[in-house]
Amino acid sequence: MHVVYWGSDTVGSVDFQEFFHSFIKYGIINAGSILVLIAFGTTLIFGRFFCGWACHFGAIQELSWWILDKLKIQPKTIDSKLVTILPLIILLNFYVIPNLFYAFKQPWNLSISVNSPEIWAFLPGWLIGSLTFLIDGFLIVYFLGRKGFCRFLCPWGAFLKVPNSLAMFKVRKTGNCTECHECTTHCPVGIDVSYEINNYQKVTNTNCTACLMCTSGCPENALSYKFTNPLNEKIQFKQFMKQNQFSHENISKKFKSIRSKDFIFLTLTLLGGYAIDGLYGMGHFMAYGISIISGYFIINEKKLPLKSALNTIIVCFFLWHGLIKFSIHQGLTLYEQKEYKNSIPHLERATLLYPKSIGRYHILLSEMYIKQGNVKSAIYHANIALKINPTHKAPKILLEKIKTMDKFQL
Ligand code: SF4
Ligand code: SF4
Repeated sequence: MHVVYWGSDTVGSVDFQEFFHSFIKYGIINAGSILVLIAFGTTLIFGRFFCGWACHFGAIQELSWWILDKLKIQPKTIDSKLVTILPLIILLNFYVIPNLFYAFKQPWNLSISVNSPEIWAFLPGWLIGSLTFLIDGFLIVYFLGRKGFCRFLCPWGAFLKVPNSLAMFKVRKTGNCTECHECTTHCPVGIDVSYEINNYQKVTNTNCTACLMCTSGCPENALSYKFTNPLNEKIQFKQFMKQNQFSHENISKKFKSIRSKDFIFLTLTLLGGYAIDGLYGMGHFMAYGISIISGYFIINEKKLPLKSALNTIIVCFFLWHGLIKFSIHQGLTLYEQKEYKNSIPHLERATLLYPKSIGRYHILLSEMYIKQGNVKSAIYHANIALKINPTHKAPKILLEKIKTMDKFQL
C-alpha cells in the first residue's frame, strides 16, 4: 500500500533496524525510527500489539503452524532460558552496542529524513530473502515450536520487552479458573498462561504479544485484557522466580524442556551464527536461524538414522565456514594495517575455502603481490577478478600497472 500510494521515494525504509543504524548512530529520524518510536509508545500502553498483530515474520510463522497442523504435525514448544538470553544478545551485540559506541565517538546531529535510506535498502535480494523466510518462518517452527523465531531470536521482540513489562493493559484474571489449560495450550508464544494468572493474577511474561487468543478461548471467561493504573500495579518478587511451569498433566506433553542443555545450546548457536553470519550475503536473522536449528538438532537426543553422521557433518560445516570467516577477517584487518606479507596467507586461504568467488579478495591479493614483487601471483589473481566481473575496472588497471612496471624493479 505504501509503495502503491506514495511510490518508493516519498517514504524510505520502514525497518526496525533504522532506529539503531540511523537514529542511535547518527541522530537521523526517518520512517523506520518513527515506526519504532510508535511501537515502543504503544507497547507501553497496550503491550506488544505490534508483534501480535502487525509483524510479517509473525504472520509467516502462523502460516507455517497452520500448514503443519493441516499435515497433522504438531511440534512441541521448547522450554528454555534462551528465549530470554539469545534475542537480548543479538539486540545488544548487533544493534545497540556498536551504534551507541559510534554515537559517543562521533558528533551526533538530530535531523529528519523520512525518505532515506530507500525503501528496499535492507532487503537482501530475492534468494537470501526467500531463504530467510523459509528458515525463520517455516523450519524454525517445525524444530522449535510455534513462533520459534519470535521467542528465540527476534531482537525487536527483545527491545519491546522493556515497555511490555510496564504495559498498562495486560491479560488479567477476572473470573474463576478451572485450570483446564486451554489458554496455555493455545498461547502462540509458549506462555504457561494458567500458571501465571493463578500465581500472579495476570500474565507477567514479557513475551506476551497481546494476541488475545487466551482471553477469547477461555471457556470460563476467566480472563480479560484489562487496564490498570501502573501506580497501582502489584509487582511480586515471586513473579521473577517462576518454577514448575509447563508441568501440569494437561499440558506437559505439549512442551519440551531443554533447560539442562541450555548452556551447550547457547554456545552452539552463538558459535554457529558467528561462523556463517555475513557469508553468501546472509544477514543476522538467517545466519542465527540456521545456527539455532542446527544447534537444536545436535542436542536433541531423538534417535534418528545416521544421527551421529549428520551431527558430524553439521559440525564440520560450521568449522569450515568459521575458518573462512576468520581468514577473511584477519586478511582484511592486516591489509588495512598494511601488513601485506601477513595478510596474503589469510586471504589466499579464504579464496581457497570459500565456495563463493569474491572478486574483491582477488583484487586485494593482486595488489599485495605487486607490492611483494610477485608478478606471477599478481597476474593470476587479477585475471581471476576479471573473470568474476569482466566489466570491473580495478583488475584491468592492475594488469596495466603490472605491464608497465619495470621488471627489475619487481
Ligand atoms: S482457559 Fe480459562 S479456565 Fe482454563 S486454565 Fe485458562 S484461565 Fe483457567
Ligand atoms: S495467548 Fe494470551 S498470553 Fe499468549 S501471547 Fe496471546 S495474549 Fe499473551
